[in-house]
Amino acid sequence: MKIECKNCGSEFELNSKSIPLRDKDSINCEVCRSELYSWNEAKMWEATLLEKKENHLNKPR
Ligand SMILES: [Zn+2]
Repeated sequence: MKIECKNCGSEFELNSKSIPLRDKDSINCEVCRSELYSWNEAKMWEATLLEKKENHLNKPR
């Protein structure tokens, strides 16, 4: 599925893999480092950057 970073607007493709155990984890946007997606289920999600945008609401630094 496609997801957009709430902070910078970059677009990612999210893909899940099933894993045997329930996992609580999250992935961060590789552009701005804010949390992109979090889950608590027996899946492992991976995000692939589709389009980099830098409409940061709050620029770090
Ligand atoms: Zn971002």
